[in-house]
Amino acid sequence: MRVRFWGVRGSLPVPGAHTERYGGNTSCVEITSAAGTRIIIDGGTGIRRLGKELMRAEFESGQGQAHILVSHTHWDHIQGLPFFAPFYRGGNRLFVYARQRDDQNLRSVFASQADAPFFPVSFDHTRASVAFRELHDGVKFEIEDVRVSTTRLNHPHIATAYAVGADGARVAYISDTAPFSDILFGQEFMSGPPSPRSRLSKTDKAKLKAMAAAVVRMCEGADLVIYDTMYTAEEYRQFPHFGHSRPSDAIAVCREAGAKTLALFHHSPDRSDGEVDSMLDGARRQARGAAKKLEIVAAFEGLDLMLGKV
Ligand SMILES: [Zn+2]
Ligand SMILES: [Zn+2]
Repeated sequence: MRVRFWGVRGSLPVPGAHTERYGGNTSCVEITSAAGTRIIIDGGTGIRRLGKELMRAEFESGQGQAHILVSHTHWDHIQGLPFFAPFYRGGNRLFVYARQRDDQNLRSVFASQADAPFFPVSFDHTRASVAFRELHDGVKFEIEDVRVSTTRLNHPHIATAYAVGADGARVAYISDTAPFSDILFGQEFMSGPPSPRSRLSKTDKAKLKAMAAAVVRMCEGADLVIYDTMYTAEEYRQFPHFGHSRPSDAIAVCREAGAKTLALFHHSPDRSDGEVDSMLDGARRQARGAAKKLEIVAAFEGLDLMLGKV
């Protein structure tokens, strides 16, 4: 399979001289199996350029098909979707997957971002056939020759992790998530860090432990783990309530799972190219010396990896 990164940034797009090498677009990863099944994870602003590329092939004549797996509907994971050109060509078939919510229907979440006064073209004007599939936590399913599994992450409003397997290779996408230690996130928004005196209940601790174990299982033996490593240790201390991890959290999961390669992902919008380099150096130093080798890369726009049979 082929894995291509079209957007690697968290929060909001940050184009400019300081982000030129890693890229300023928000989350979007494309996975294509050798048989040609096309999976797209997240529709941050990176999906705009992917859409343009797809329109140079079968999507231009309305014969394209793609499956978009959405981790959650925070802006940085969906804000590129209204600019995804294949939506506007009749004949294309697009399938959008995301976690089922009690409070909102998936289609209406997507349609509302294209409603007035936010956008000039209503979602009803898309010409492609678009089908929505709402997922329960932990479901496994197949898309043609590709196997997909899901698990719940620890993030405000809850996010979904995906593992995608095909051609004898497996990729896990873990974004966005906080570590499974300090706060249990749910549907509610937290306006500040928890007080130092507040303790997790036994039940919440058990829930976090189960969530962490499921994430490790998902990453077991994975060829590539793409992980939300937005924060340095210091930033995490300041903003534990925003729901993001540090490289050390990702390394711990990958080690426990025996994953082969970790891609640092969802870089902070405040992180310059040089600072991402330093974060990568630090992570590699930390992972060195373990019995089992863990390769670490920092994801950048245009990173193109071939895994398993291609
Ligand atoms: Zn995000
Ligand atoms: Zn988020």
